[in-house]
Amino acid sequence: MLHGLMMQMPLAISSLIRHADRHHGDAEIVSRRVEGDIHRYNYRDLHRRARQMANALKGLDVKLSDRIATLAWNGYRHMELYFAVSGSGAVLHTINPRLHAEQIAWIANHAEDSYLFFDLTFLPIIEAIAGHCRTIKGYVAMVDRAKMPAQSKVPNLICYEDLIDSHSDRYDWPEFDENLASSMCYTSGTTGSPKGVLYSHRSTILHTYAAALPDALNLSARDVILPVVPMFHVNAWGLPYVAPMVGAKIVMPGPNLDGKSLYELFEAEKVTCSAGVPTVWQGLLAHVEANNLRFSTMKRTVIGGSACPPAMLRTFEEKYGVQVLHAWGMTEMSPLGTACTLKEKHMHMSPEQRYPTQYKQGRVIYGVDMRIVGDDGGDLPWDGKAFGDLLVRGPWVLRQYYKGEGGDPLVKDAEGRTWFPTGDVSTIDPDGYMQITDRSKDVIKSGGEWISSIDIENIAMSHPAVAMAACIAAKHPKWDERPLLVVVRKPNAELTREQLLAHFEGKVAKWQIPDDVAFVESIPLGATGKMLKAKLREQFKDYKLPTA
Ligand code: AMP
Repeated sequence: MLHGLMMQMPLAISSLIRHADRHHGDAEIVSRRVEGDIHRYNYRDLHRRARQMANALKGLDVKLSDRIATLAWNGYRHMELYFAVSGSGAVLHTINPRLHAEQIAWIANHAEDSYLFFDLTFLPIIEAIAGHCRTIKGYVAMVDRAKMPAQSKVPNLICYEDLIDSHSDRYDWPEFDENLASSMCYTSGTTGSPKGVLYSHRSTILHTYAAALPDALNLSARDVILPVVPMFHVNAWGLPYVAPMVGAKIVMPGPNLDGKSLYELFEAEKVTCSAGVPTVWQGLLAHVEANNLRFSTMKRTVIGGSACPPAMLRTFEEKYGVQVLHAWGMTEMSPLGTACTLKEKHMHMSPEQRYPTQYKQGRVIYGVDMRIVGDDGGDLPWDGKAFGDLLVRGPWVLRQYYKGEGGDPLVKDAEGRTWFPTGDVSTIDPDGYMQITDRSKDVIKSGGEWISSIDIENIAMSHPAVAMAACIAAKHPKWDERPLLVVVRKPNAELTREQLLAHFEGKVAKWQIPDDVAFVESIPLGATGKMLKAKLREQFKDYKLPTA
């Protein structure tokens, strides 16, 4: 065998920030801060402070592969941690602050996080969990000394800016095996407890190259990117890595994601491209329409996480001249799988002819392979009609959940190749455009965030008057999906909707409590006694929720 004679350079996240400093040093990073003001600096400053933070982590005795958690909005300090933590060989564990405090503590314990960095907004969460997190040695408030809480019950509370100020910026990013874990994210987007997805330097860099491609997110040094998608949700779809790779200016929205705040930031910072879930764009469009506004610099926006409603796509394109890039992915896929960009032949079509293609979730990005299979595991035709379980494989697709939770998630094809079953059901047309038609996994996605139907059912079942409970997704105009609880009461038991919903208070986050309860005589069961959720979803497909 003849080996190629090219350099062996391990792919490393630190190379992104080194590159941005050297080649795009003056490109800006603008953040609306929790403190309320606008902060601006550039990639040179980001790199310098990331090096100071890397030294600070060493000072805190953070070792290779230690997990460092964050509970933070999109902002420059969070971005510094993206590079300081992963770049120095530790693992950045971004936690979703919208979860219930108990779930956050559970996740931090499961990941065995050693420090937790947080935005001040989340101080009440930290106070609630500090006594329950067994492995966390210190909590770092991401503010300067003047804004530190005067009194707090939090043990070993550290000030972020003190850490930076007390450390030198002389730091050489270490080299290590590119398969070293770089960051992690828990998802409840599968059945059962939340599971950790552990990314590597290699998977992250390959995903970053792919995400920047013209038929993916199409980003360059001429773009100004505003990620609305949170940095705690699959690394803001990779944008904090893509921006330094291509040298784009990046604008971080902080905690205010309402239409007015976003619009003002888009205009003030001349944003050309953004990314977020449909719910966010609804708020933005409502504000723009109500005030008769226009986008002066916005060219395109990536919409994903849930299906983009066709009317939203058309409004953006026809009324505001903003191109919608419908994309699909998963936490388990880093997240990008497909993006809906057109082919040359579509360019000669009228909008009405090409829209049906644009409504789809799109074509795979090179690096990801996909197939759809029937119940027998056999391939289904790519005819745009046959639908089946969507399987994927690729170098940024999960092989196994952290600590092997849930067993081996992969399936094998006839040639012995392994595939990850996405839990989505889809068609693929002859041009390779994939369209999600259903979901086989048992979860509800409300405004881009997961609600585990199993958690909801377990709580419902703990009520003494409940004989059987099934939680399914019901359509909602704002949140896309909201949980509907279908319940069989115990014989002769009295139970009202209000009593059952009150039973959820304090057990899950408020937004995870079902919107409504439908009392039924029976729930359809399969041969093995399993609830037939698909049948139930069909039965309730036109159900009108009280707020809908
Ligand atoms: P997450 O891991 O939270 O990113 O969620 C991934 C899941 O969200 C996918 O498996 C789909 O069920 C759903 N999803 C993501 N993007 C889309 C989309 N564009 N259209 C429909 N569903 C989507």
